[in-house]
Amino acid sequence: MNAPLRRGACPGLSAPMATGDGLLARLTPAGSTITLDAFGGLCAAARIHGNGIIEVTSRGSIQIRGLGAESAPLFAADVGSLGIEGNEGIAVVSNPLSGLDAGETFDAHALAAELRKALAAAPFAARLAAKVSAVVDGGGALHIDALAADVRIRSVDGAGGPYVHVAVAGDAATAIALGAVPLECASECVLQLFDCLAAKAPRSRMRDAIQGEGLGAFKSAVGSLIIDVPAPRVRPAAEPIGGHPLRSGRAAVGIGLPFGHSDSETLTRLIDAARQADASGLRTSPGRALLLVGLSPDATPAIVAEAGALGFIVDPADPRRRVVACAGAPICASGEIPARAMAPAIAHAARAWPDGGIIHVSGCAKGCAHPAPAPVAVFGRDGRCDVFVDGALSCSVMADVLPERIAQLAWARGGSR
Ligand code: SF4
Repeated sequence: MNAPLRRGACPGLSAPMATGDGLLARLTPAGSTITLDAFGGLCAAARIHGNGIIEVTSRGSIQIRGLGAESAPLFAADVGSLGIEGNEGIAVVSNPLSGLDAGETFDAHALAAELRKALAAAPFAARLAAKVSAVVDGGGALHIDALAADVRIRSVDGAGGPYVHVAVAGDAATAIALGAVPLECASECVLQLFDCLAAKAPRSRMRDAIQGEGLGAFKSAVGSLIIDVPAPRVRPAAEPIGGHPLRSGRAAVGIGLPFGHSDSETLTRLIDAARQADASGLRTSPGRALLLVGLSPDATPAIVAEAGALGFIVDPADPRRRVVACAGAPICASGEIPARAMAPAIAHAARAWPDGGIIHVSGCAKGCAHPAPAPVAVFGRDGRCDVFVDGALSCSVMADVLPERIAQLAWARGGSR
């Protein structure tokens, strides 16, 4: 169990990470639909071997908390028998409904699987940095513009057939555009870019490599494949919460986990309700959500009502979505304030927040839960809450008065009491 993390990347099943409430194991689904029985088995294993807390991260990974040195291998063995396909090796992420979405222009799930396989067999893979990743966006409402990656491809219209646009080092807004390739050349193009990265800057991220080496080598590596096509526009934020039509004529429903976490009992009840609604399974989604898939459109109102009654987020405007909080103290040993425990009160205080911007509550200065800037950011320090507004320190208060301070900030910004 104490073997080094594979490629040093993430707290996976076989090498969980120590936190304040025990060991944390992370499972990154490969994007295939997880059967309800398999997810129910995961919930049971989390309860039996851990403390039952289950998280879905901003990138759609599943985290299980409270494992012990002896129980973690048992948990890994139990989950390994459930048939949940994990994203092993170099992370290749596709749209959360890829392969099912009525709006996608190619099967991003299949292409991502092909890429994972090719990258696993590539001789240069061992020279890539632990956290390099690619995203494959086949279109549809649940796009993945917000996910940063070293290489990203996205469907675009092209003359004479489907094309994908290729960009490197960032999310859709910040990545450097290279051009487009025919869909059938997409895998080759991604492999060439990673091969070049491994050769020019071993164990580096693409952005660092470009800063150090320039873009020229990467352009040259794919020069025979690429045609000059302008970068597609960045789309408004994808919204996983709510209903989504599937190509099959069935539907998916996105359910949010308040502050990114729930517990095995509540999730088991959600699974039972999904079974009653004849769902075929679920997927995880960026944005700390689960997507119940294969529902009859007629069945969606009932499952939405049941999920809401269980405390899950079913309304995109739910004020709890404004607060992004890490686990904080005492769950995380580095936590200076109980960020997660404070989150509901802060969400309530922020319900009048006028611009809907994110309030980031972080147990310490590391800011794990939301690496990007936020209009309001709270960082724990020596048991106090340092409150930053638009990047500038506004005040430092004790945790028990933070909700009132947040409410005052909301009123000052024009919110209503
Ligand atoms: S931000 Fe700090 S307290 Fe929060 S999870 Fe990360 S290390 Fe722990």
